[in-house]
Amino acid sequence: MKLYCTSCNYQFLPKTDKLPNRCPYCDKVGTIEKASQMQDLIDEVSQQDTEKEERNKH
Ligand SMILES: [Zn+2]
Repeated sequence: MKLYCTSCNYQFLPKTDKLPNRCPYCDKVGTIEKASQMQDLIDEVSQQDTEKEERNKH
């Protein structure tokens, strides 16, 4: 679950399931909402470049 601040657009992952009262960035109260983009976490799975340049050590 990803959260974001409607005031400063700061996005973060909560440590618990509870919504924090205030934004950890701008410290405003009542501005935290759940982000609806669930596919953001999938971006963590990235393909590493398999291209390797073989160097001649001779
Ligand atoms: Zn904020």
